[in-house]
This record gives sequence, structure tokens and C-alpha cells, in this order.
Amino acid sequence: MRSSPVYGNDIATCRLRAAPKVAKITTLPAILRCPAAMNNPELLTILRYPDPRLHKVAQPIAHVDDRVRAIIPRMLATMYDANGIGLAATQVDIHERLIVIDVSEERDQPLVLINPELEWASEETRKGEEGCLSVPGIYDGVDRAVAVRVRALDGDGKSRVIEAEGLLAVCIQHEMDHLMGKVFVEYLSPLKRNRIKTKLQKAERAAHA
Ligand SMILES: [Zn+2]
Repeated sequence: MRSSPVYGNDIATCRLRAAPKVAKITTLPAILRCPAAMNNPELLTILRYPDPRLHKVAQPIAHVDDRVRAIIPRMLATMYDANGIGLAATQVDIHERLIVIDVSEERDQPLVLINPELEWASEETRKGEEGCLSVPGIYDGVDRAVAVRVRALDGDGKSRVIEAEGLLAVCIQHEMDHLMGKVFVEYLSPLKRNRIKTKLQKAERAAHA
């Protein structure tokens, strides 16, 4: 997820843009300060809407093994590099239930959610502006539960319960949608969605012209 330039996290985003790139990698917590993570994790390519691969349903991860632990620092590095606050594996063409998030202003509190399951969502919803690393330059309002409780494995394979509200709750819901093959623009009207599709396809063509 990309934080909105209009609401909420705009200050954090501005600060982030001004920060030197290297700081994002070196402020990872101890668990990620392994040689593989410090060794400039290779960035992954983020799929762009309307790429049909964004609609694949991700499969559960059977074991949090070295293979999975090698993907996590690459996803985090890709998210930080793109100034995102969340990235689902689906967005980097890995169709497994893995999400990385960091909604902190200092960009030093990465959260890893493996096989996330929604245990509870508040009845109260709120419409907030959302953006997405797979839908560059597009922001629009989406109704989300204001609070959620999610059970997931962390990067060590330990089961954790995360209670979230505000921006983190929105980000978790947005990223969990990705794992189900859903992009936030699908909450918008068909007319708006088609406009976005056309705009992004034009931009893509211009980039390759
Ligand atoms: Zn997204």
C-alpha cells in the first residue's frame, strides 16, 4: 500500500522521501540484520495494475524455512525503496500468503505476516484515501473496518495476534485483499476503474515507447 498524499500519513511520507536510502536498510530489526538482509537484498519487480497476475489467489506457506526467510528482506527492501507502507507477495509475482508492512514514521518497525487470517473486524467502517504500489499515482476512497484482529506467523514462524486500528488496520486489510487477488480499485465504480486502467495502460505504453 502507498500512503495517501492527502490524508493521514502525508507527513511521514514527506519525511521518508527526504531520508537517505541507505538508512532504510540499516534500520531493520535484529532478526533481519542477517548477512543475507545486509547484503543489499535484490529488489523485486512490482506488478502494475491491470496485470492479470495481480488477481491470482495466494497459497498458504507450509513452512517458514530458509526459502521464505530469504524472500522477506527482499520484499521489505522493495517496499522501502518504493516508499510503500505495505507490500503483499502477490504484488511481486510470488503467490504465497506473505505480507510486509511498516507504517512507522521512522520506517524502522517492519511487520511480517505469514498466512494472515482475519479473526475479527469492527462493525464500524470509515472511508479513507488509499493508494497502491501496483496502481501508481492513483488515490481513492475505500471503506474499511476501523479495527481488526489478525492471527499470523511472523518471520520466525511464531504465531502472533495483531490488534490494529487506524492506518495499520487499513494497511492490513489492503494487503490481505492482494493475497486474495483483489486490488483496491475493484472497490471503485466500473467507470472509475476503467478510467484508471486506460490511464495506466497509456503510461505503460509511453514508458516503453
Ligand atoms: Zn496495494
